Amino acid sequence: MSFSLTLLHLYPHELNMYGDRGNVLALAQRALWRGITLDIRPVGLGEDFDPELADIIFIGGGQDAQQIAVSEDLLAFKQKSMSQAAQQKVVMLAICGGYQLLGHYYKPHQGSELRGLSVLDVYTIAGTKRLIGNIALRREDGTTLVGFENHSGQTFLGQQKGLTPLGTVLAGYGNNGQSGEEGAVFENIYGTYLHGALLPKNPALSDELLLKALIRRYGHPKASALMRPLSDALEQAAHHAAIELAHRQRRPQRRSFFSGF
Ligand code: GLN
Repeated sequence: MSFSLTLLHLYPHELNMYGDRGNVLALAQRALWRGITLDIRPVGLGEDFDPELADIIFIGGGQDAQQIAVSEDLLAFKQKSMSQAAQQKVVMLAICGGYQLLGHYYKPHQGSELRGLSVLDVYTIAGTKRLIGNIALRREDGTTLVGFENHSGQTFLGQQKGLTPLGTVLAGYGNNGQSGEEGAVFENIYGTYLHGALLPKNPALSDELLLKALIRRYGHPKASALMRPLSDALEQAAHHAAIELAHRQRRPQRRSFFSGF
């Protein structure tokens, strides 16, 4: 029996900031190494999709200009299917601008508020400062995540039961530079500001998403049997180098004794 999953890549051309499509490539490769085919289908502007087909939905990040077009398109063509997919616990990963639009709204500096899908109980308001740099998080299970953030949006989590941050900030800004939290997770829906692309340097998160999609499609025993461990030496080396970079970047620069001269 061959095993496959279908990944719907929303707005691959409009929302691909910092190579966010690398997340799709990482999922496809880690599935392939386990003999699982990831069928990747782009879903662009003006298109809808069948939520029954979706195992994973990915949406990347982009500038405010692209977000205006995407916000209007989501509400005009994809709102019903996205809500159905969320109710059917399709695995979703949304990065930055995509994350903001899974929430209730994104209020940019200029112009009117961009309505979101409200599949995540979060809202975003553009702050006066861009939150930029390498970022490191610690998850509830003690594992770490690394990435790169660049957003003016400050995201705040609502009170929805079961809604948790993706992690706490070890180095960087996170959701809003105040709460010490980053991202949002509700059931199988993940939103985060971590570009990078995120998944190549965070193999455990890639596998978490693949396992959830396999469990949903094939049931637990088969999914666990399929998700045999991979040797992640390269990925772990990149992960730890990125952790170091994030910490180094955030320490105040040590002024040398002679710096005043
Ligand atoms: N335009 C949004 C912001 O600046 C999202 C940016 C992004 O996707 N990197 O917050």
